[in-house]
Amino acid sequence: MKLYNTLNRKIEEFKPIDKKRVKVYTCGPTVYWFAHVGNFTSYVYWDLLIRALRLCGYEVNRAMNITDVGHLTSDADDGEDKMEKGAKREGKTVWEIAQKYMDDFMENFHALNLVVPTNICRATDFIKEDIALVEALDEKGYLYETTDGLYFDTSKFPTYTELARLDLDHLKAGARIEFNSEKRNVSDFAVWKWIRDGEDHAMQWKFRGRMGYPGWHLECATIIHEILGEPIDIHCGGIDHIPVHHTNEIAQIEAAYGLKMANYWLHNNFITIDGEKISKSIGNVYYFSDLAEKGYTHMDYKMWVLQGHFQSERNFSFNDLNAARQRLLNYRNFAALRWQKEPTDLDVTRNVIMGQLNNNLNSAGAFAELDKVINGNVPDDAFVRFLDDVFGLMIGETTPDISDELKQKIAERAEAKKNKDFAKADALRDEISKEGISLLDGADGTIWQYNK
Ligand code: AMP
Ligand code: ZN
Repeated sequence: MKLYNTLNRKIEEFKPIDKKRVKVYTCGPTVYWFAHVGNFTSYVYWDLLIRALRLCGYEVNRAMNITDVGHLTSDADDGEDKMEKGAKREGKTVWEIAQKYMDDFMENFHALNLVVPTNICRATDFIKEDIALVEALDEKGYLYETTDGLYFDTSKFPTYTELARLDLDHLKAGARIEFNSEKRNVSDFAVWKWIRDGEDHAMQWKFRGRMGYPGWHLECATIIHEILGEPIDIHCGGIDHIPVHHTNEIAQIEAAYGLKMANYWLHNNFITIDGEKISKSIGNVYYFSDLAEKGYTHMDYKMWVLQGHFQSERNFSFNDLNAARQRLLNYRNFAALRWQKEPTDLDVTRNVIMGQLNNNLNSAGAFAELDKVINGNVPDDAFVRFLDDVFGLMIGETTPDISDELKQKIAERAEAKKNKDFAKADALRDEISKEGISLLDGADGTIWQYNK
């Protein structure tokens, strides 16, 4: 398998640490609000990665965090904690907010038929381990204290700029205005924040005799260290994470424990909506509830995501979603042929589809190969199962064989047509159509198809 590795800015042959078991980490959601259609693209792309790895014969050990503390509204270690903000907005406790939005996130995760990570880890379950990482960093002399917390001195970690290819001088010039005067370097970041006098922060833990909470970048480093063990094979996340979050994850782990964090870094690009950045102020934020209201399913959305590439900036529109829904319907109808005709040999197609996925997860290429065979070929059960294993679009599961009554009606209509009783044949066709099934008459007989 070949993957684009952000670390080296090129497509590389994937070489796992262990021949059988691959360790993957994907940064998870901050559970303070509903995830929108942009947020979920990354989980769909990484699902494709997990499925492709499995089909290559690897067992995947994956961890994903749930951020329920410490993610401030600004990446620069200030602003309000997103969880606290959610709690105030809804008059609930931060714990209730975390539960509510975690449940919503997981509901969508399941509805998208995404493979559930081996380990789903809530940040607040790892505080003791976070503290151990802070202590390890302090012992090695990487930390310094300011009024509001313990900070990582990035000038002491020589490879700090590597992942993001950061130009710190440039960063310094640009950031002068918001530069926190107690920070030694503009890129330094909080690993632990103290609760200040009068500060309203419900989630807090005692450390060195004072109350505080972990910095946002700590949890992923801790979870990787505790659950998977560095180095891991693949670390995934959104491209916005490259310059700050992932850079800081690496700094903490590699400084504290001296081992490389991850061999391959995969980053998904952003989506725009009708050509614009997704934003509440523009009013173009769509949630799954909005898609459902317009009659689109989670699978239609997943089809739309998968026809693009994780590295491309994508534009979402209801027009394109509609086209994706039609494409998915075509695949379900292809799957439905297995009950109506003799299967044809699709082994070659299976291999070219795998070849496309192994080429840096080229799902668009894989679908193009599939499109070449859906007319004129008939899959067997195994081929449909293969497609569902690769894409998780449930084309086999959402396409049940039709009822005996419908089959009976189809036969009666064929009989009526044969007897040139066209009025009866047309009436039966209409009846059948109302049940969601269209009939296609061809040279070699009639086949039925789902019409929605
Ligand atoms: P947020 O809750 O806004 O911090 O978003 C969480 C994560 O979702 C971000 O860190 C991004 O990686 C991802 N994300 C946000 N907006 C988009 C978008 N428009 N397209 C793709 N991913 C996004
Ligand atoms: Zn992370």
